[in-house]
Formats: sequence, C-alpha cells, structure tokens
Amino acid sequence: MDHPNIEDLCLEKGMRMTDQRRIIAKVLSEADDHPDVEEVYRRSTAIDSGISIATVYRTVRLFEEAGILERHDFRDGRSRYEPVSDEHHDHLINVESGEVLEFHNDEIEKLQEEIARKLGYKLVDHRMELYGVPIKKAE
Ligand SMILES: [Zn+2]
Repeated sequence: MDHPNIEDLCLEKGMRMTDQRRIIAKVLSEADDHPDVEEVYRRSTAIDSGISIATVYRTVRLFEEAGILERHDFRDGRSRYEPVSDEHHDHLINVESGEVLEFHNDEIEKLQEEIARKLGYKLVDHRMELYGVPIKKAE
C-alpha cells in the first residue's frame, strides 16, 4: 500500500526534526513489512551507527502519539509499526514466518458496516487480522 512520507508529516505537525529522527522517519517511510523496534533500530544504525535503541523507542513512541505511526500487535509478542495511511487495509499474518500481507476487500468492508448498523452502530473503525499458514502444494 502507498504510505505517506513520515518526515513530511512530522514537519506538518511542527515536530522538531533532528538528524537521528530524520533517519528513523526515512527507515519507517521506506518499510513495507511492518517492522518492530529492533528491526527499525537495525536499519537505522546501518545509516548512522550512533543511533541508540532507546532513541528508536522514544522516536517511534513520539510518532505513534502524533498519529503518524500505527502500532500493531500480531500476537508474536512484538509491537510492529507502519505509517498511518488514508487508504484502509487489513492484514494476513503468516504464523510460521511472521510475514504480513496486506489486503482490501470491499465486500468485507460493507459486511462489517452492515453488522454494526444492525446492532445500532455507525462503524467508525475496525481492525481485522487473519492468521494463516501457506497452503502446501500437493506432491
Ligand atoms: Zn499494513
């Protein structure tokens, strides 16, 4: 899915951008695999070895609180992050590899709105996660 540029969003929100924050923002903008903090740290230190894990934690938290980053818990005990996007999508998680696939399905979206409406609610948000294993081809 298309993700917005995090540094631009930070500047829009009037956030002070240090060099290290800029690097972490770039790493997160370029990621399409929902990395956890450890992975963001690995990629950030590949650009600037002076970045500490504490700085990555703080910065990710800051971006999350500013509504720029979305945190996911895909049941593997690690918080994973992706830039908040205008385009809604859901996730399918490969429980063997931890790989995350994104999808969007209009029928599911409509069905969820319908369920909420029948229960007397207007749907404002939802989260759907599918957990699966790859189907092995018959030999
Ligand atoms: Zn996603």
